[in-house]
Amino acid sequence: MKRKEIKEALKSENFEQEIVVMGWVRTKRASKNVAFIALNDGSVIHSLQLVVDLEIIPELELALMHTGAAVSAKGKLVPSAGSGQKVELSVSSIELLGEANPDEYPLQPKKHSLEFLREKAHLRFRTNTFGAISRLRHAMIFAVHKFFNDKGYLNIHAPIITGSDAEGAGEMFQVSTLNLEKLSFTEEGKVDFKHDFFGKSANLTVSGQLEAELAALALSKVYTFGPTFRAENSNTSRHLAEFWMIEPEVAFFDIHDDMDLAEEMLKYLIQYALDNCADDLDFLSKRLEEEEKNKKAEDRSMELISKLKFVLEQPFERITYTEAIDILRNSNHNKKGKFHYPIEKWGADLQSEHERYLVEKHFKKPVILTDYPNEIKAFYMKQNEDGKTVRAMDVLFPGIGEIIGGSQREEDYDKLLKRMKDMKIPLENMWWYLETRKFGSVPHAGFGLGFERLMLFVSGMGNIRDVIPFPRTPLNCEF
Ligand code: ATP
Ligand code: MN
Repeated sequence: MKRKEIKEALKSENFEQEIVVMGWVRTKRASKNVAFIALNDGSVIHSLQLVVDLEIIPELELALMHTGAAVSAKGKLVPSAGSGQKVELSVSSIELLGEANPDEYPLQPKKHSLEFLREKAHLRFRTNTFGAISRLRHAMIFAVHKFFNDKGYLNIHAPIITGSDAEGAGEMFQVSTLNLEKLSFTEEGKVDFKHDFFGKSANLTVSGQLEAELAALALSKVYTFGPTFRAENSNTSRHLAEFWMIEPEVAFFDIHDDMDLAEEMLKYLIQYALDNCADDLDFLSKRLEEEEKNKKAEDRSMELISKLKFVLEQPFERITYTEAIDILRNSNHNKKGKFHYPIEKWGADLQSEHERYLVEKHFKKPVILTDYPNEIKAFYMKQNEDGKTVRAMDVLFPGIGEIIGGSQREEDYDKLLKRMKDMKIPLENMWWYLETRKFGSVPHAGFGLGFERLMLFVSGMGNIRDVIPFPRTPLNCEF
């Protein structure tokens, strides 16, 4: 008989036919005549209750159906007397598929800490929390593609191995087949990459943007959605060494169009989660509420679903970096020395504490900051008339800080070349990028959304290591 998914079984009102379900035991309890097994197959957060008459199964066999064991059960659905479920399975036969010795199986039917579960990343999919996150993550991936597809954008696969360094050296992972124990050196004492796989040094990409720009300058509307890698040693709850990034790039767009697209996309994705992931969000909301109980009242975050709806209802605040600096510098928070990095003068790079102050304390809604000082932004951003700022735009979110970083790009060949020289960008690696400004250059803009930052926001989780299946962070590459 074909397996019925538990998601379908729980919705079914067919009490006549026998069905077969398969999954993993979450809990088991036995009374005198019957055993109750909560079975989960990952198709939905809820488990199906199996009611097993002790007469149909030898006691020894039932004893093996511990938490974590895999079983297959056949039976008829019946209306459930218990609370919390409409139906349960009245089992006619049950078979052990894979045992899980309780002396060794690390997951107990109780709450485990997220830190503990990170060390058991091979099994944490089996918890309610990671089941919910996995389904939500899938829904968000699908929604990203749907959003762009419905608008006529083309998905471009940017390369993962790159010979150029988009943002400046020092934070990239090197890709090489050289034998590290027998390196050969040039006369200047540098590693000789001529004998390396690509005949030159190569790295894992930090962004697909530069390649997306090339495509946008022919196809008009494109986006990438791929893995990106940063070897920066930032051990925070918002940084991974390997993360996924969504990068639309659009010809004939200015910075205002870019902001409109960013706001529309974020709202679309949040709405999609509310419309399609109600059960999982409900669970994650309760989980967050439990977690927040340990915090002081003023530090507690808003209830998850209200927070998502709240963001949907607000037009994002749009202000310039200069206005933001004024707000921050004059804030009581700054005057009382409550920032770890006090704001003194224009030009300071904003830390996540400043971003969050603007969003959570000052405006109480998402904020888009524009026109940052050129000194703290990348070479490709369009230069403003004032000679000091560039047409950058960062979207700041509650609880997170920067969720999107974007800009209108410099389309003028001479200005771009000068800025690249000033910033000591190796021109010989970037000739192809410069050529697009020689041949049919047009205004264009784009941005990067960190997919795991979005996941943090939508799931209400506090640590980025818990919204990606297998996190890569400094000193951590298990699994
Ligand atoms: P931050 O200042 O927060 O480190 P950034 O300015 O270095 O970010 P960008 O280069 O602008 O980031 O990248 C675009 C987006 O990618 C960011 O807005 C963020 O959502 C995400 N992002 C950047 N670095 C990481 C990281 N190490 N881990 C996860 N997401 C990241
Ligand atoms: Mn940024």
